[in-house]
Amino acid sequence: MTDITYHLEAVRARVREALIRARRADDDVTIVGVSKRQSIEHIQAAFAAGLRDFGESYVQEAEPKLEQLAELGVVWHFIGRIQSNKTRTIAERFHWVHTLDREKIAVRLDAQRPYYAPPLNVLIQVNQGGEPQKGGVPPARAGELAALVARLPRLRLRGLMTIPPADLRPAESREHFAALRSLAERLAGAGHPMDTLSMGMTADFELAIEAGSTCVRIGTAIFGPRS
Ligand SMILES: *Cc1c(COP(=O)(O)O)cnc(C)c1O
Repeated sequence: MTDITYHLEAVRARVREALIRARRADDDVTIVGVSKRQSIEHIQAAFAAGLRDFGESYVQEAEPKLEQLAELGVVWHFIGRIQSNKTRTIAERFHWVHTLDREKIAVRLDAQRPYYAPPLNVLIQVNQGGEPQKGGVPPARAGELAALVARLPRLRLRGLMTIPPADLRPAESREHFAALRSLAERLAGAGHPMDTLSMGMTADFELAIEAGSTCVRIGTAIFGPRS
């Protein structure tokens, strides 16, 4: 077994255990392997070990990877800050966007999503911690953006995403994850589709799963340190 196969198996086991603790079904969580600043060979190794979903944060870095791996059948998730001059590549090449936080970007992605592709799966990023250096809408504005996305035919709203502040104590991370989940429940109550909660990374994915995450974004625990 390669290191990546071994690490991926360990992550899968930890995901399963967290699901059991939360009394949830064992196929309830998608693992997105965060391959930013990891080589194409690393992505291929994880794919060979059965991983299908991969996340990239920088369009320029992702482009050659998408190009070279076009035949593989990877499900690509965009998880970085979205610059408006990069929306076309995202609209054309990615399957999911986790970091929508501006109306202008939503409108551009909708206009640029090719007619031959299914609607782009979209998560609204919520800035739970109110951190100015991070993306995401304040929780109180998520409903407005969800309503806009609902009117854009080439986008398919799937749920919410959050990145809690770094270095929280477990109890604090739990609070952030629980808050995102209740926000999703409120928006679902208002008629917005909310089948996906993207929360949890290497440091906190088990807590996130216990709080209801359906999608964990894991880099270091699968691929090792980034270059
Ligand atoms: C880099 C990154 C991750 C993965 O972080 P790890 O700690 O390596 O698991 C997850 N989500 C986002 C948005 C990231 O930028």
